[in-house]
Amino acid sequence: MIIVMKKEATDLNVESVVTNLENLGLSAHVSKGETLTIIGIIGDKTLLRDKNFELMGGVDKLVPVTESYKLSNRMFHGEPTVVDVGGIPVGGGHFVIMAGPCAVESLEQLMHSANAVKDAGAQILRGGAFKPRTSPYSFQGLEEEGLKYMKTAREETGLKIVCEVTSERSVELAVKYVDILQIGARNMQNFELLKDVGRTKLPVLLKRGLSSTIEEWLNAAEYVMSEGNGNVIFCERGIRTFETSTRNTLDISAVPTIREKSHLPIIIDPSHASGQRHCIAPLSKAGIAVGADGLMIEVHPDPPRALSDGPQSLDPEDFRVLCGELRALAEVLGKAWAAPSSKY
Ligand code: PEP
Ligand code: MN
Repeated sequence: MIIVMKKEATDLNVESVVTNLENLGLSAHVSKGETLTIIGIIGDKTLLRDKNFELMGGVDKLVPVTESYKLSNRMFHGEPTVVDVGGIPVGGGHFVIMAGPCAVESLEQLMHSANAVKDAGAQILRGGAFKPRTSPYSFQGLEEEGLKYMKTAREETGLKIVCEVTSERSVELAVKYVDILQIGARNMQNFELLKDVGRTKLPVLLKRGLSSTIEEWLNAAEYVMSEGNGNVIFCERGIRTFETSTRNTLDISAVPTIREKSHLPIIIDPSHASGQRHCIAPLSKAGIAVGADGLMIEVHPDPPRALSDGPQSLDPEDFRVLCGELRALAEVLGKAWAAPSSKY
């Protein structure tokens, strides 16, 4: 249920509705928009029966929210959420690029990647230190050493950093180093892990599960938010379909669908969506055209020698060319290319 306040409602009106809700044992989430204030209610809605909230000062109407996800629901928050990544805005008409190697392999490989993506205009460096690989015999990541290299790259370039976490232990380590915690596709429904990252204050990049519906994805965001962390960014990275010529199938309609259902930002990962280098530029352009708030792209200084996902990584030169084309598109589409952070 949400309570929509009248345009002329005062702060006191809002406060008194919230107090009344809390006295009933319900939790109230106030969202103040430019014109309207909405109070989202979480808890047992039968407690509202016969309470006549519509008669309270400043209240316009009560509207039921039938979906199981509430905090991530657009009804709870009229305006688009802009997630602040250490000064870089994600959402709300800005465009961000998170780029870098699939996995952190060495300090040299990472610094080469970081400088290249920064020069091309990316604002955020990606790099996996905990790698959830299909085979246990594949490279599993450098773990804390990898996080340390990421932090060094951050200090030397000013790029913000995003790393995947795969367990409670990796969350405990990563919070000491990173700006964004990434939940990978394989963990989108690892509810304990979602609650763990929800108890941190860091932005969370929530990838869509390999075979997850949009509703399941929204509920995964709800797990994070219900622990008190509202800084969730969706990432569409392709889903499993019958098609085998690409690694996954990019669900481009996820962007307008999420926009309609949620206030949270959404970016696209054309590397994991396609698994193929030649698809990255066209899918990136499709992503910006369909209204995504940004992209996550794998970039490696020497893709044929990458320890993971070389075939879906761009080399620095191809990435630079792509960023030039995306900047031109951003301008036409009225998207503001986010400035690099001035906060080191
Ligand atoms: C990744 O971004 O490194 C990754 C493993 O992606 P996904 O979880 O989308 O497969
Ligand atoms: Mn990868």
